[in-house]
Order: sequence, then C-alpha cells, then structure tokens
Amino acid sequence: MKDYSLHNCHDCNAAPGQQHMDGCDTEHCSVCGGQRMCCDCVGHDKDFAKWTGIWPGFAEATLLGLDLNEFARKGYHDIFFVKKGKDAPQAVSGAPGNSAQQTNGADGPSAHA
Ligand SMILES: [Zn+2]
Ligand SMILES: [Zn+2]
Repeated sequence: MKDYSLHNCHDCNAAPGQQHMDGCDTEHCSVCGGQRMCCDCVGHDKDFAKWTGIWPGFAEATLLGLDLNEFARKGYHDIFFVKKGKDAPQAVSGAPGNSAQQTNGADGPSAHA
C-alpha cells in the first residue's frame, strides 16, 4: 500500500490548501499550465494553483492510468492546471504550456483510440 496522505510541498513547504511561495518549482501557472517559475504570464492566479497536498496532476494521472510524463504529453496540463473562462488571460507565446503539443512529434503520432 502506498502512502497517499497529503503532505507539504516538497519545494516551498506549503501546507495543503496554501499558496506556493514565489519561485516554487511545483507551482503551475494558471495561464499556460507550465511551471510558474519558468514563465512570465500575466494574470496568474496563485489561489487557483495552490498546493493541494498532492503532486500536481498525480491524482488525475493515477486515476487515468498514466504517468506524469504521459499526462503532460497528452496536453492534460491545459485541462487541469489552466484557469479557463472567457475573461481568462492569454498565455504568452512560447510559454511552457504550449510546448506539450510540439513535443508530441518526438515519439511519433500517439495511438488514437
Ligand atoms: Zn510549493
Ligand atoms: Zn505561464
């Protein structure tokens, strides 16, 4: 049995439900879905991207039977980490969230069901 209890953020030590500290490498940008420390998007919502006690995407990926690399390759970051809405700010071009699709070509077309 794995231990799936909630734990503090490994990088900034935020408790579950707390916002990450600035510069935390676990925080995902709510605009582009990439690592917040690697992008410069305007309008990022720190509360939307708060630490939940579970590695971002881990619970979703586990439920879907994926590992986190597959999860990213399928572009699911865009679904789970990006705050959608008609008033949502646009990701800046070249942001990490946009690269998920570009890297798809690296290992050929993925299996379409
Ligand atoms: Zn953190
Ligand atoms: Zn961003």
